[in-house]
Formats: sequence, C-alpha cells, structure tokens
Amino acid sequence: MLIVMKPTASREEIQAVVERVESIGARAHIVEGEELSIIGAIGDREHVMRLGLDASPGVDKVVPILKPYKLASAELHQGGRSVLDIGGAKIGGEHFALIAGPCTVESREQTLSTAHVVKSAGATLLRGGAYKPRTSPYSFQGLGEAGLRILKEAKAETGLPIVTELMDIRDLDAVVEVADLIQIGARNMQNYTLLTEVGRSGCPVMIKRGLSSTIEELLMAAEYVLKEGNENVVLCERGIRTFETAYRFTLDLTAIPVLKGLSHLPVVVDPSHAAGRRDLVEPLSLAAAAVGADGIIVEVHPDPDEAICDGPQALHSNDFAAFAAKVEQVAAIAGKRMGAVV
Ligand code: PEP
Ligand code: MN
Repeated sequence: MLIVMKPTASREEIQAVVERVESIGARAHIVEGEELSIIGAIGDREHVMRLGLDASPGVDKVVPILKPYKLASAELHQGGRSVLDIGGAKIGGEHFALIAGPCTVESREQTLSTAHVVKSAGATLLRGGAYKPRTSPYSFQGLGEAGLRILKEAKAETGLPIVTELMDIRDLDAVVEVADLIQIGARNMQNYTLLTEVGRSGCPVMIKRGLSSTIEELLMAAEYVLKEGNENVVLCERGIRTFETAYRFTLDLTAIPVLKGLSHLPVVVDPSHAAGRRDLVEPLSLAAAAVGADGIIVEVHPDPDEAICDGPQALHSNDFAAFAAKVEQVAAIAGKRMGAVV
C-alpha cells in the first residue's frame, strides 16, 4: 500500500505512521519527495488496511500499489527517478554511466591497460569478470580471487568504481570487498537466494535481464534485492532469445522506455552481449542512448583476437575514445551527461 502524506506532514507524523505499519509486521519504506513524503507499506494488504491509516494525522490518502513489484514500481516514487551513487559515479536521472572494460580479467597487464584507456576516454565505471558464467564447463572459468585482486589494483590506479559478477554466494564476501556494483548475470536473474543475499549485503547491484525473461520477471528480480532494504539497484537489458539467428541475441530496445515507465530504477544497456559482434556495438550503443538508457556497459580489449572470452564482440582499446565521444553526443541529445569520476 502507498501511504501518501500531506505536504504539511511533520517528521513525527511520518514516524508515527512508520511505527504503526511496523507494528503489524509490515515493512515501511519512506520515499521523501520534494513536495511530500510517501510511505510504501510492504506486507499483508488486509492488515495494513485495517490500521485505518487514512485517518491518522498528516496522512492524505492510502492507495494500493497494483503492480506485483512494489518497491521497484514507478508509483512508489510518483514518477521521480532514482539517482544512484556507485562509488562516486552517478547513474540515473540526468546522469549517463559509461561502463567499459574487459569481458574477463585475463591478466594484470590486459586489465590495467584497458582500465587506463577507458578512463581517459571518459568511462565512469570499469567492468571485468573474475567469475565467468561459461556455457561449457571446459572453458576458462575466470581467475577468481586473483582476478578480484587485479580489479582492486585497477581501481586504485584509475579511481574507477568496479562492476564485477557474482555467481555463487560462497564468493560474496570476496566480491563485496572489491565491487562497487555487483553484477548478477542473465543466467542468475532468477536465482532468488543469490538476489536475497546481495540485497542483504547492501552493496549496489546490477541485474541483467534473463535470456528469456519478461520485463515483469526482471522487475520481480529487482524486488528481491529492494525487499532486503538495498535501494541501489540498476536494471540491464542485454538482449533476449528470439527466433533470429543472424546475431547472438535480440536487443530489446523497446524495453528501455517501458522499464523506465514502470520503474524508478536506472536502466542500462549491454550491446556487446546482445550483438555478439563488434560492428554492431556502436550502432546499438547510440540507439540505447537515444531511447533514454541511463548508461551502457561495453566490452573492450587491447587485442580482441587474442581474448580468452568474447573477443568477437570486444571493441579495440584504440577505437574506444572515438566511440565514447559519439555516445556522449547522443546521450546529450537525450538530455543526459556523462559524469567524470574524480
Ligand atoms: C557479462 O556481462 O560478462 C555476461 C556474462 O553477461 P550476461 O550475463 O548478460 O550474459
Ligand atoms: Mn562477455
């Protein structure tokens, strides 16, 4: 339920509502808007109704949140956007995040050199996988903790916040120590115990859309994290499976404005995994910026032909600055700016 407070409501009145909501075992989630505050009461709807909160001092009205995702819904923020601060890099609202880096942390040299290239071209976060979800159990699975140590060094050298994937709860502590934004990959989007644990960790989380997941399922995955009191959630469209075989996945660009209509959460696009082809990464990135994405996440490698993982879709380090400049221009037309990390 949404408990909409009057613009004149005092702190004490808001607190009194929160306490009554919590007294029946429901969770109270306060959203402070510019004009008024809203309290999302998450719990048994009948029990909340029975509190008769519309008669409480400072309360304007009590309305149901009709969507199955409550904390992720746009209704809770009354159309306002969530702007997240990920290790100093802003994302959402007018802030466009350029997340770039290798698919996989292969070596210290490859990761550090890529980190410096993307940083000087204006990237706001560094991506790199230490734990890799591979289709074949015989393929390289990532450097694990050694990879995390390399990412830590890259952050120390460049100042870029780190985006890295967590696949297994057993690695949570090690990943949280290094990650500014934990990536939950497409294959784990519906791993509900993993989502709950990253929610409890308090570390910001980026959830990639499952290969065959609907928009509602993606938002329900976000709800699992939000429900644990972790408000820093980024959604990522990375292409879905369709009948088309000419490219790796079909990038669902329609999902961007639709997700932004349904939810207050920032939405980024991964054109690299969607396309699976370097030549498609730039046009899809520009399209993503044009439809209002809050950022993109792209793979970059100093020598893609030698890459252990996803070489055919990696941008050459040498081409990255020109690419980033074009993306920045289109993002600006869409009303967003790429913030430098200091
Ligand atoms: C990745 O970003 O490294 C990755 C494996 O992506 P996805 O989960 O979208 O396939
Ligand atoms: Mn990859």
